[in-house]
Amino acid sequence: MRLPWPMVTPHPASVRRGASSVAAGQLNFVPPCRTTDARSLELLQEFVTRARRMLVITGAGLSTESGIPDYRSEGVGLYARTDRRPMQHAEFVRSARSRQRYWARNFLGWPQFSSHQPNLAHRALRRWEEGGKLHWLVTQNVDALHGKAGQKRLTELHGCAHRVVCLSCSAVTPREDLQGRFVAINPEWSAQAGAVAPDGDVFLEDEQVLNFRVPSCQNCGGILKPEVTFFGDTVSKTTVEFVHGRLAESDSVLVVGSSLQVYSGYRFLLAASDRKLPVAILNIGPTRADHLAKLKVSGRCGEVLSAVQLL
Ligand SMILES: [Zn+2]
Repeated sequence: MRLPWPMVTPHPASVRRGASSVAAGQLNFVPPCRTTDARSLELLQEFVTRARRMLVITGAGLSTESGIPDYRSEGVGLYARTDRRPMQHAEFVRSARSRQRYWARNFLGWPQFSSHQPNLAHRALRRWEEGGKLHWLVTQNVDALHGKAGQKRLTELHGCAHRVVCLSCSAVTPREDLQGRFVAINPEWSAQAGAVAPDGDVFLEDEQVLNFRVPSCQNCGGILKPEVTFFGDTVSKTTVEFVHGRLAESDSVLVVGSSLQVYSGYRFLLAASDRKLPVAILNIGPTRADHLAKLKVSGRCGEVLSAVQLL
C-alpha cells in the first residue's frame, strides 16, 4: 500500500528572516501583512484601556500564527492552496463512506494537529482575563488552543476537535482516546502513519480509505463524530443564548482574527450594534462587520495584542 504525502507549499513570507511569532522552519499560514501603523495601535490601546468588561470573539486568523491554516486567507488558506472543503454535516451523517474518509484523514493528521501550541495572541487574551479586562471569550476555532493557554471564561462556539460525541447517546469522550482505538483496529495503518509526518493535508486513494476501520460508540454502538459544528449544521440554541447573555453584560466587543463570514459569529456583531456597544476589529483583510466597527486594525494578532498594555 502506498501513501502519497503531497507537501503543502509554504508561503514565501516564511522564508523571510525574523518573521515574528512564527518559528523558523514552521510552515507559514499567516497572510502577508504590513507592520501595523502606530496610530492604529494607539487607538486600539485607547479602546482596551476604556473597556471594563470586554467580549472578545476570535477566529482562525488567531491560530494561523500557531501553524494551523485557515480556510479563506488569500494565497495561504486551505481554499486557495488545496481542493479541500469542509465536511458537510448531512454528508457525514448520511454516508458511511464519507465518515470513513473523514476519519482516515483525521487519524493521520491528529498527531500533528493535536500538538499545536498557543501563541502570543492566546497568551495575551489569557492575561486580559486574569487582569479582569476580558469578560468573556467566544471562539470560532475548534483547535483547543485557548483552553491550552488556560482561558477559563470561554465558549467554543463551534465545539472542539479534541472531543468526540456519539450521535445516538450523546456521550462525549476525548479525541485522544479514540486515537488509541484507531491504532488498535488498524495496525497496518498506524505503522505507516508513524513512518511519516503528515501535515494535515493528507491525500488518500480510495483503496486505502476502504481498508480503514472506524470504531463506533463503546456505550451504544452509535456513530462517532468530532464534537464540532460542521458546515450545514447549526450552533445549539442554548449556546447562542448563553453568548447573548454574556454580550448583554459586556461594555465593548473586540474581534480578533476573523473575517466573520459565517453567520454564527457575525450575529453577535449585529447584536452588539443593536446595543450600541463599541466594536473594534483586529484582522488581516476585510471582514463582514467592518461597517459596524469604530476601529479596524490590520495586523498580526500575536504582535498587536502583546503590544497592548493592561491599564
Ligand atoms: Zn453512544
